[in-house]
Amino acid sequence: MKESHDYDFIVIGSGFGGSVSACRLSEKGYKVAVLEMGKRWKPEDFPKTNWNLKRYFWAPLFRCFGFFRLSLFRHAWVLSGVGVGGQFPSLFFEIFR
Ligand SMILES: Cc1cc2nc3c(=O)[nH]c(=O)nc-3n(C[C@H](O)[C@H](O)[C@H](O)COP(=O)(O)OP(=O)(O)OC[C@H]3O[C@@H](n4cnc5c(N)ncnc54)[C@H](O)[C@@H]3O)c2cc1C
Repeated sequence: MKESHDYDFIVIGSGFGGSVSACRLSEKGYKVAVLEMGKRWKPEDFPKTNWNLKRYFWAPLFRCFGFFRLSLFRHAWVLSGVGVGGQFPSLFFEIFR
């Protein structure tokens, strides 16, 4: 069976920018799809400690499916959030642990 997808807009990433854009576009009546590479976090999924690297860092190559991605560039390292809600899950973890 052939699936068909028909959207007016496809938003990549469900972070602060993506989710607000998707919300506003759908409020205007557009058909919107949001693609997110990270997982959906429930409170019980969060690691109890930062040393639980597999649940803390996002590095699928090393079987790590956490919520922090570290991108290494020549002159800068960037720490960003991965998951439904963008960097919000990481803020949630930092605030409530
Ligand atoms: C620990 C921490 C504390 C912070 N505290 C504050 C604060 O107190 N106040 C404040 O104003 N800001 C704070 N920030 C910054 C704020 O969270 C960011 O500025 C904001 O989330 C950026 O929004 P964004 O939409 O650009 O990106 P993000 O929220 O990072 O969203 C990007 C999304 O895109 C997804 N994505 C990326 N690549 C792909 C792909 N190829 N395919 C599919 N999905 C993809 C990611 O998984 C993510 O969900 C904090 C950030 C961190 C990490």
